[in-house]
Amino acid sequence: MLDHRLTPEHKELRRTVEEFAHDVIAPKIGDFYERHEFPYEIVRDMGRMGLFGLPFPEEYGGMGGDYLALGIALEELARVDSSVAITLEAGVSLGAMPIFRFGTEEQKREWLPRLCAGEALGGFGLTEPECGSDAGGTRTTARLDEATDEWVINGTKCFITNSGTDITALVTVTAVTGRTPDGKPLISSIIVPSGTPGFTVAAPYSKVGWNASDTRELSFSDVRVPRANLLGEEGRGYAQFLRILDEGRIAISALATGLAQGCVDESLTYARTRRAFGRPIGDNQAIQFKIADMEMRAHTARLAWRDAASRLVHGEPFKKEAALAKLYSSEIAVDNAREATQIHGGYGFMNEYPVARMWRDAKILEIGEGTSEVQRMLIARELGLAG
Ligand SMILES: Cc1cc2nc3c(=O)[nH]c(=O)nc-3n(C[C@H](O)[C@H](O)[C@H](O)COP(=O)(O)OP(=O)(O)OC[C@H]3O[C@@H](n4cnc5c(N)ncnc54)[C@H](O)[C@@H]3O)c2cc1C
Repeated sequence: MLDHRLTPEHKELRRTVEEFAHDVIAPKIGDFYERHEFPYEIVRDMGRMGLFGLPFPEEYGGMGGDYLALGIALEELARVDSSVAITLEAGVSLGAMPIFRFGTEEQKREWLPRLCAGEALGGFGLTEPECGSDAGGTRTTARLDEATDEWVINGTKCFITNSGTDITALVTVTAVTGRTPDGKPLISSIIVPSGTPGFTVAAPYSKVGWNASDTRELSFSDVRVPRANLLGEEGRGYAQFLRILDEGRIAISALATGLAQGCVDESLTYARTRRAFGRPIGDNQAIQFKIADMEMRAHTARLAWRDAASRLVHGEPFKKEAALAKLYSSEIAVDNAREATQIHGGYGFMNEYPVARMWRDAKILEIGEGTSEVQRMLIARELGLAG
């Protein structure tokens, strides 16, 4: 059994982010959310705190922390708001991590310092209009033009987080760069800097939740980038994104745990103050049991993501544990959001109450970075069941 109790540094980080979320994010985020506006000033503050550099070494501008530290920060942010939490999660796990894990020394030195400082954001373009869960079905292509030594990229990516903000510097896209002798696609990852001619970013989607985060469709029409923008080896793109998604699931799980805990926080306050039939609604055992169950679920989800993170940090296999944590925490986040809304009665349906935002934000957790069905497939495969 791994020990995933927090070190004094982790505890200090938790306190700092909790305070920031409470003092800075909570008073402002509702307005950004209502206006569907990206909260640049909050993201800038998060950058100054070093949150975008948490799991990266200091030599690239990072904080020298680990994945546990990232999860702690995400959990505390999501207790208050998920849009800022997903901006951090995607910025770190999907924007910077592929470059850190698979980039050349030159690519790391070029991109990581600004990404770690939160001055720039990166996106990760895997999903396409015709394929999400079945990402091996990528249709975007990249052809090497030997004459100019450039990749020529064509295709469309959809639902890409952090891909169209004023500070987005790059999107790493997966594309078919060739075929194996038996006809299988060779999928590779290529860095496309923002503003490259032919790279078009659509207007933000109108979403059910995560309304203060940036999600766009991207299209590529004869987009030319230098051959040196290939990330890692040609044909390794599929393996790379599987690794990136395994890690990302731990981060999403921490975020989901935060949302589930935020539902407990809000419900406790409300149950103590709202009165019905002459007494606080929290005096009723039916309400107490709901909140006790919510706390049990958030606690168990926390154990699950910290277990997966500890395995990752200690260099142990963590694929199954990451899928278990993601599956469990995202489903209980939806449960907690439903119960918290119920406890708030009609006010729970009003957007000015944080639980309404949590209810809208919870559902995507069962879909993004691998749906619940995909997590079950992965767990079954790890148990030796799937073919
Ligand atoms: C707000 C938001 C942000 C996102 N950010 C990013 C991002 O930054 N980068 C990125 O690349 N993608 C991103 N995504 C995309 C997300 O990862 C995909 O939506 C997700 O992986 C599901 O893919 P899909 O939408 O194509 O659904 P599909 O794959 O079409 O699935 C539809 C349904 O069928 C089920 N299903 C599919 N195959 C099977 C099977 N074999 N067995 C059982 N059930 C199955 C699925 O579980 C799902 O319920 C984002 C999505 C959203 C909504």
